[in-house]
Amino acid sequence: MPPDRRQASDRMRIAEGLEMLELTLGHGEQTMMIHPVALYDAEGWVLIDTGMPGSEGAIRALAGQAGIPAHPLRAVILTHQDIDHIGGLPGFLDSEPAPFDVYAHEDDRSAIDGRAPMIKFGPERRSALLASLPDALRIPFERVFVHPSRPNVTRVLQDGETLPFGGGLTVIHTPGHTPGHVSLYHQASKTLIAGDAMVAESGELYGPRPAMTPQLEQAYASVNKLKAYDIEQVVCYHGGLVRGDVNARIAKLSDRS
Ligand SMILES: [Zn+2]
Repeated sequence: MPPDRRQASDRMRIAEGLEMLELTLGHGEQTMMIHPVALYDAEGWVLIDTGMPGSEGAIRALAGQAGIPAHPLRAVILTHQDIDHIGGLPGFLDSEPAPFDVYAHEDDRSAIDGRAPMIKFGPERRSALLASLPDALRIPFERVFVHPSRPNVTRVLQDGETLPFGGGLTVIHTPGHTPGHVSLYHQASKTLIAGDAMVAESGELYGPRPAMTPQLEQAYASVNKLKAYDIEQVVCYHGGLVRGDVNARIAKLSDRS
């Protein structure tokens, strides 16, 4: 754990209008820290990844501490289909007074829409998770991901497109961890929001976790693709912020020959 971590759940201003949230999930040995990102301006805020089922309240509390008004949430961007990234979505769908767009890549869309199994979270694990949840979380989860009455994804992300959030957010398709995994590049602050394309530990950058990455070669090809961007800092969903020599670190990571 880096020494400058003040408390378990926190937030960090990465740049003007760009906040990294630090959220602790679970307890005891099951503890996991994750880092959703909030982008905001006068028109509202945009959330990148939503945590586990039940994370919505904690994410809103952290966003509130950062001075972001609770509403309107303009959009949720899902970097990929894994449960720790999409699980909080039902809470936001239920609590937000106005509809908002949900962005994801085509290749993870059917899993997020409940029309195909999640690749790393098969029916057995899903049943076990659902059985462990109180009704207040299980029922919305089932409504959104098991028996959805309408598609969850309303906007399909294209590789290379720039979304009109935070003054320009470029979509980089980085498959491998999942087929439809995307990373996002915030142009104004040269920040890469890596999702799970890379992980961080104690301020150091590492490649994708092999145990959680079914297509590891493809995932490293995706890391290689990141070399095209001028990156000053990276937010990894698992491990948080890495600053300094980022392009050199990425070049080193992608050179596995
Ligand atoms: Zn993850």
